[in-house]
Amino acid sequence: MLEMDKVDKAFGPVEVLRGFDLHLHYGEKVVIIGPSGSGKSTVLRCINRLEPIQGGTISFEGETLTARTNLCSLRAKIGMVFQRFNLFPHKTALENIIEAPLIVKKMARGDAEAIAGRLLEQVGLSDKRDSYPRELSGGQQQRVAIARALAMSPKIMLFDEPTSALDPELVGEVLQVMKELAADGMTMVVVTHEMGFAREVADRVIFMDQGTIVEEGPPQAIFEAPAHERTKSFLRRIR
Ligand code: ATP
Ligand code: MG
Repeated sequence: MLEMDKVDKAFGPVEVLRGFDLHLHYGEKVVIIGPSGSGKSTVLRCINRLEPIQGGTISFEGETLTARTNLCSLRAKIGMVFQRFNLFPHKTALENIIEAPLIVKKMARGDAEAIAGRLLEQVGLSDKRDSYPRELSGGQQQRVAIARALAMSPKIMLFDEPTSALDPELVGEVLQVMKELAADGMTMVVVTHEMGFAREVADRVIFMDQGTIVEEGPPQAIFEAPAHERTKSFLRRIR
């Protein structure tokens, strides 16, 4: 459903992705790990065209992305959750979730609210629908952010270190929501250093460094028997 082929991405003279390949089937879950600055966030940002690319191609659901691609309809199909929750501070949990369906999909308010109610239940926050972000814990805010992304019925969910800004005791509740989403069959690309999550959920783990894939494989293979010295030393450092 997603194909990145030989993607090159540079910021001015700085080459950030070099010949990056990523092919994903519907329902597949990929976890990307790698050192700071290796290009993990850039991969996600290229997928939904937050960044233009200089070389290679990206196709999504059979369509190659070009300068003429309708970004609005592309992004409606791609849910993204960031490290910082990025909720609208002056809107309640419910209002945050219905915003895009109302404005982008021109959905009727009643329908959007019904969907939001179900999503709040799914992320375990039915009792917080009228709370403002400042009244929610970081873990709760992140769960609202996930519900907000899901409200557009995306075909794929991209997560960029969704738990790394959270206090340790709040990490589990967010990972739980992500695990349930995975079990429901969502296609997911997750940048995270949560190795337990990767082991349990990932079909494939990709270790990248300096803008290229060093190695990839099932979690067991990457974690128990990494082939490359760079992977080994990275795993030693984060364990
Ligand atoms: P981290 O683990 O710290 O989040 P990352 O693997 O996500 O790192 P990226 O954010 O993708 O890394 O950045 C890859 C490289 O691209 C870095 O060297 C970074 O400085 C550079 N970079 C990213 N965004 C920009 C930008 N908008 N302008 C210039 N350079 C950028
Ligand atoms: Mg990053």
